[in-house]
Amino acid sequence: MTDTLKVDKTFTRPVNWITTSFMLAFHIGAVAALFMFGWKPFLVAFVLWWVAGSLGIGRVATHRMHHQNTDKEGDPHSPQDGGFWAHMGWIITGKAMHNKLDSLLAYVPDLRKDKFHCWISEWHWAPLTVLGILLLLVGGLPYLLWGTFFRTVFGLHSTWLVNSATHMWGSQRFMTGDDSTNSFWVAILTFGEGWHNNHHAIPQAARHGIAWYEVDPNWYGIWALRTLGLAWDISLPKLPKFGKAKVTNAAVPFKPVVEETVRQEALGD
Ligand SMILES: [Zn+2]
Ligand SMILES: [Zn+2]
Repeated sequence: MTDTLKVDKTFTRPVNWITTSFMLAFHIGAVAALFMFGWKPFLVAFVLWWVAGSLGIGRVATHRMHHQNTDKEGDPHSPQDGGFWAHMGWIITGKAMHNKLDSLLAYVPDLRKDKFHCWISEWHWAPLTVLGILLLLVGGLPYLLWGTFFRTVFGLHSTWLVNSATHMWGSQRFMTGDDSTNSFWVAILTFGEGWHNNHHAIPQAARHGIAWYEVDPNWYGIWALRTLGLAWDISLPKLPKFGKAKVTNAAVPFKPVVEETVRQEALGD
């Protein structure tokens, strides 16, 4: 364990104290929440956890860099540089929370033109602050601690697990040429993002769980919106046929472009 941490990239870089202070404060608040448990504040936290999930430009840019250089030089958060680094080291030493970096902006020419995305990147802290004040006024301290601090910390670690855990532990369905894996427990914590090997194989697809047993609540939500006519232009590329692997969990060679395709729905068997 100590040896693993010694080679972790996190400890080769200066800590970003602004980001780290906020992280520490939120973790302290999250731990404090545990001492003020109540079902109502817990339920508020649960609902907010489910509702939350806005994408800032910084996150989208980092995400694109990760897809272009997965587990290689240039990947902003690969466990190749250490598990702790991939999980949160790159956050507490980096400028990931700072969304104006020119190097990042080059990756998101489309989003820079989008007024809403620019606004939410600049003011990402504002909705959380307003909500925190409301929770404090309406329900008192337990609501604030659960609905803001605990819920945010839980959400952050869940999201970070997609960068750390699903590039370290789990199974590979597709030979994507990187370390990405499918993980049931990360999928549960992230509403489906834990089917991360599937995602690296078919990054454009809105759906992460391919087989019926790959629980994917994000997709169920999108599917419901689409069925109601409230969402459109949803990318669901046809998948290359990956053959009938007789061995369970055997990784399947994956070629992004092949003629023979099958419908995604047909892969459930
Ligand atoms: Zn990944
Ligand atoms: Zn991705």
